Amino acid sequence: MSTHIESATGIAIVRRVGNALCLLLGVAALAAAVYVVYTHDPADGGYYPVCVFHKLTGLDCPGCGTLRAVHQLLHGHLLAALRLNALSVCMLPVLVVVIARNSLAAWQGTAARWPRPRWVPAGWRWWLVGLIIAFGVLRNVPVWPFALLAPH
Ligand SMILES: [Zn+2]
Repeated sequence: MSTHIESATGIAIVRRVGNALCLLLGVAALAAAVYVVYTHDPADGGYYPVCVFHKLTGLDCPGCGTLRAVHQLLHGHLLAALRLNALSVCMLPVLVVVIARNSLAAWQGTAARWPRPRWVPAGWRWWLVGLIIAFGVLRNVPVWPFALLAPH
């Protein structure tokens, strides 16, 4: 009987240490990525990945300009970042909160709970998908005001 309890405790400890290691590796990888984007402007090209959709079609996908926008944000240039990808810049704080909350839950060895506030509609995921698709379509319309959404 006590062997089962000791085994369960050992598994819990290993799981907790594994979660902590994964979290530390994630934080280190994120810090390294932020450092690279901060010190090397994606607008200069180099070793950054190219957008396959843009390369194949010549159109801007919903994510085009995000790396350049993050670079501008890291240098405190909010307007320049918004001109490159307004949707990514607006979604970045949400992404930071989601990552932080999930990381905290992983650190604590629990599952992150995301109760939906009343003001958020039940089908919010589909609204988000629709928003991303609409942004991707509208930023390729070469007419004001949609042309403002293209990375420039
Ligand atoms: Zn793209």
